[in-house]
Amino acid sequence: MTAIPTSGICPLCNTQQDFIKSHIISKFNARKMHKGKAKGDVVGVSETGTTPIKPGGHWQHLLCKSCDHALGNDTENMAAQIMYHADNSILEAEDEVCILKGVDYPSMRLYGLSTLWKMSISSLPYFDFVSLTEEHNEKLKVAIHTRQTLDEDYPIVFSTLMVGERVFSGNIRPFTASNGERKFVILVTNGIMMQCFIEGYDTDRIIKNVKFNSSGELGIVKIQFFDIPFFADRFRKLAEANKDLGYNV
Ligand SMILES: [Zn+2]
Repeated sequence: MTAIPTSGICPLCNTQQDFIKSHIISKFNARKMHKGKAKGDVVGVSETGTTPIKPGGHWQHLLCKSCDHALGNDTENMAAQIMYHADNSILEAEDEVCILKGVDYPSMRLYGLSTLWKMSISSLPYFDFVSLTEEHNEKLKVAIHTRQTLDEDYPIVFSTLMVGERVFSGNIRPFTASNGERKFVILVTNGIMMQCFIEGYDTDRIIKNVKFNSSGELGIVKIQFFDIPFFADRFRKLAEANKDLGYNV
């Protein structure tokens, strides 16, 4: 494996800088991934389903200090607050959906867009299945750097993955999937699924209605994990390929 350089042109501000260790998946997620219950649940869902892949760290020398801090302070802390400590702001919690109100839309959007972009440009093997075109990378980079929320592009949908009555207490190696015209990236951390649509969403009414938008109300739908065909499929393959590792599906 080629060593990752610790200085060079920062991919966000385009100036010559020393890089610091940036978390590709933000620190609050990474911390949860390596502690407690979810520790043993980190799995890879590859096309063939043959290899469970351990994350092996989610940071690399990627950005300069000021770019990394700008993302961390403004967007990731906000997202952590919303995703894991938002009890008081729940407006409505029904069986299948909860709606968080008063969410800081620009910060939450930038959290989603910057996570997508960092996963795409990262050279860590863990993120091999997230690799957007140069055009997408450039568009995201400019938006993140100038703090534009790109309201009409890259819709993001959040869900909670359930197994029966319980939240799926696991993390899944991020990957790119498609369904008809739609192409999207999936990141699952601690049972929360962030689905970022890359292509084929323009005419999709469902996505238009459920995506996080500037109203600041964030709807999070509960979805049964094994109702999602590509999870059910790949986990079945993974289980078959790794019977001796004790995966039971
Ligand atoms: Zn920079």
